[in-house]
Amino acid sequence: MGILEKITRNVDNRYWNPGVGAFPVKNRYTAGVAGQQFFERLKEDSKIFGTRCKTCETTYVPARLYCERCFERLEEKDWVDVGTEGVIHSFTVVHKTLEGEAKEKPDLIAAIQIADGILIHRLGELDDMEAYIGMKVAAQFKAKADRRGGINDIDYFKPL
Ligand SMILES: [Zn+2]
Repeated sequence: MGILEKITRNVDNRYWNPGVGAFPVKNRYTAGVAGQQFFERLKEDSKIFGTRCKTCETTYVPARLYCERCFERLEEKDWVDVGTEGVIHSFTVVHKTLEGEAKEKPDLIAAIQIADGILIHRLGELDDMEAYIGMKVAAQFKAKADRRGGINDIDYFKPL
C-alpha cells in the first residue's frame, strides 16, 4: 500500500510498504509539531519545555501550539524552559501488573505539576508511605544513550 492510498482496513495502518519491504509502524499518530519538539528537548538536552501564552499567562506543560483558554497561537518565541522540578499534585500506588498479578514492589504513579501543566510519571527513590501531595520532586533522566525521544526518557521523579 502506498502512502497516498486510502486506508480502508485498520490493520493496514500497522505496516508501511514502500516497495522495498514492510516495516512495522508502532504508533498510528505522531506526537505533533509541539510534541516532537518537546520530546527532542527531553532526549537531547534533559530539559522540560512548555509554551507560555502571553495573553492569559498560562504556561502549558507539555508544550502546545495553541492556548486552549484564549485560542492564541503559541509560536517558537513562546517556548520556555520550565526547569526539571515539579510538585506532586496527586498520586496512586499500583500493586498489580497489567496481567493482574501482584507486583514484588508497588509502583508509585503521580500527577506532577510543572508550571500550569501536569505530567503523569513514576516516582522513585521513595516508598509509598513517604509520598505526599505537595512534595517537591525533580526529574531523573535516563542516560543519554538510553533515551528514545519519549516521556520515558525521564526515568522517574525523585524527592528534592
Ligand atoms: Zn491564553
